[in-house]
Amino acid sequence: MQCQLSAHDDGKHHGLLAELDDFGTALWLRWHGRTEVDLMVLPDCGVVAPGLDGEGCCLFASHTEQHTWEDLLEAASCTN
Ligand SMILES: [Zn+2]
Ligand SMILES: [Zn+2]
Repeated sequence: MQCQLSAHDDGKHHGLLAELDDFGTALWLRWHGRTEVDLMVLPDCGVVAPGLDGEGCCLFASHTEQHTWEDLLEAASCTN
């Protein structure tokens, strides 16, 4: 499992496990070190990139750090 967030300081990592059938939610695994692991259902981040193509963010609502479309170095390959 790989963390989906851009470089961040808070030590809490998030990996997307599955998109859920419920519109706009997904199952996330959150871990902190090796001992703290949580399964969470989180709503999708609704922030869309400004501009005509308006790419959506692949993360969950109120995540820390950048939206995936702000991460210019990595070509986002998300299915949202
Ligand atoms: Zn992380
Ligand atoms: Zn976002």
